[in-house]
Amino acid sequence: MSTLDILRVPVLSDNYVWLVHDKASGETLVVDPAVAEPVLEAAQAQGWTISQIWNTHWHGDHIGGNAGIVAATGAKVTAPAAELAKIPDVDRPVREGDRVRLGAHEAIVMEVPAHTAGHIAYHFPEESVIFVGDTMFAMGCGRLFEGTAEQMYTNMRRFEALPDDTRVYCAHEYTLSNGKFARQAEPENEAIAARLAQVEAARARDEATVPTTIALERATNPFLRAASIEELASRRAAKDRG
Ligand code: ZN
Ligand code: FE
Repeated sequence: MSTLDILRVPVLSDNYVWLVHDKASGETLVVDPAVAEPVLEAAQAQGWTISQIWNTHWHGDHIGGNAGIVAATGAKVTAPAAELAKIPDVDRPVREGDRVRLGAHEAIVMEVPAHTAGHIAYHFPEESVIFVGDTMFAMGCGRLFEGTAEQMYTNMRRFEALPDDTRVYCAHEYTLSNGKFARQAEPENEAIAARLAQVEAARARDEATVPTTIALERATNPFLRAASIEELASRRAAKDRG
């Protein structure tokens, strides 16, 4: 099985845009382009031409680069069907269970509402890769702007059910703030303490802390680990006040 080349493009203050290249077909996909120029430059530097854009939700820091990238490359836009009214010029609206392809690689669409009402994730089961947008972060989860703690709890159960070695690509570098909160939420959890120390060191060196993995999140993410909807809700509320 050929693998995907996945390149992190840091933009704005803390966004990560992901470029995904399939050598076999020569196709390149961009997930959640917040902006166009730095993403086009990063692709060009690799000798890649972007042919597809996949959006996880409608927020400006996830779709802001769509128009510029389409204008420069003619890329086709895949986005959540439930958010079509808020995302201009979508070529392929997708829903739960739909399959989308990069070359021969197939991703399955998961509807994971809560951060936004139509938020989706893209899971490549064969490659053990998932793009989760702003639904889950390293040691954290997205804010509940358009959904409920119950929905987020369901999302966490679905992510938790993925294989341990699944690499999780989220859209922001929030790990240090999340790790500090995780330490407060679970002061006895040694895996969280150890990870927070690593994250502090990495951020001091200006290094990225994502992607993460399902195994690591299972051990250290206080939202994935919340034992009930109520516990997730109270942790989310405490983090929001934080
Ligand atoms: Zn967002
Ligand atoms: Fe975002």
